[in-house]
Amino acid sequence: MSPIDLIALSADELAARVRDWDWPRYRARQILRWLYQARITDIAAMTDLSHADRTRLAAEARIGSLAQSEVLASEDGTRKFIFPLEDGKRIESVLIPDEDRLTLCLSTQVGCTLDCTFCLTGQMGLQRNLKAHEIVGQVLAAQRLLPEDRPITNLVLMGMGEPLANAAAVEEAIRRLTNQTWGLCFSPRRITLSTAGLSSRLKQVARMGVNLAVSLNATTNEQRNRLMPAVNKVYPLETLLAACRAFPLKPRRRLTFEYVLLAGANDTEQDAARLVKLMRGLRCKINLIPFNEFPGNPHRRPSDERVLRFQAILIQHGLETYIRKSKGRDILGACGQLGTLPDVSVLVRPPGPHSPQPIPIHSHA
Ligand code: SAH
Repeated sequence: MSPIDLIALSADELAARVRDWDWPRYRARQILRWLYQARITDIAAMTDLSHADRTRLAAEARIGSLAQSEVLASEDGTRKFIFPLEDGKRIESVLIPDEDRLTLCLSTQVGCTLDCTFCLTGQMGLQRNLKAHEIVGQVLAAQRLLPEDRPITNLVLMGMGEPLANAAAVEEAIRRLTNQTWGLCFSPRRITLSTAGLSSRLKQVARMGVNLAVSLNATTNEQRNRLMPAVNKVYPLETLLAACRAFPLKPRRRLTFEYVLLAGANDTEQDAARLVKLMRGLRCKINLIPFNEFPGNPHRRPSDERVLRFQAILIQHGLETYIRKSKGRDILGACGQLGTLPDVSVLVRPPGPHSPQPIPIHSHA
């Protein structure tokens, strides 16, 4: 029998094992703390279990973790991790330092269910859903590569995949990331889930307690059907915005709408005016994301002037609007650029405490 991977078990599943082993109930919590708070990878290190219990546990179980990643380092301090999974597939996570924040952008699927025409991951198709422990594993593995005084402060589920197409695993991952007793203790306020708009599942996001970001990207159904066909045909704009209006926002929180700006496709002054109308009555802010180009894609990034004009119209109408800095573009680590593997690898070495340290790049071609 192959050993049980402890990190692949939910808290309830672990509790059931502990019962089967005739151990006291509190033993489950001890083990969970070792996994998520002490973050050990060796059962022998569980020093509050007797030697005999550790030996017994080690005979039946193991602690899985994501294998060593390739790390690509951008000039702007962003790093992209490429993690091999146990079945040989690969996922990417992106670490983004910004002033006092250190944000990790997590993947939730290998590839993606959807087919948004401006997104590289969409072009891979769906290979499979990630399991909860593979989502949490990205956080554990990234943190292991960082010095102790550089904790990851924010998480965004905006990497490869559509999180709400894998909602059960995402919900379970968030439970482990936010649990204050034995988990990673992230405040749900520091976690943002971004969806292309699976409207019927927004309720689940409310239950998870995390921030919701919606990738709107268009202002008419005709346009959205062209840019995001799979999702918009099932959940057209009216349905999506109605679900957003019904979202039970907590006091002092608001929704984020993301809007990828594509030259000539959705970046006109008429689009800006329509967007203002669509946002009426919603407590929200807008993040404009100038398109990040990638080889083979026909869309183009609008000029800075056009991006600023679009923003100015929204601001004039009272919408709080930001332009997302495109970090990590040189390593295909920016929004919409996850999914290909540039032919370079980088030595894995923890960065210095504050400034990103240049990491030597080796070409293995
Ligand atoms: N499936 C989820 C999360 C992944 S995409 C979602 O759609 O929200 C994360 C963000 O990147 C989305 O807002 C998406 O619209 C944006 N995006 C995708 N491709 C992009 C590209 N090439 N340039 C800029 N932003 C892009």
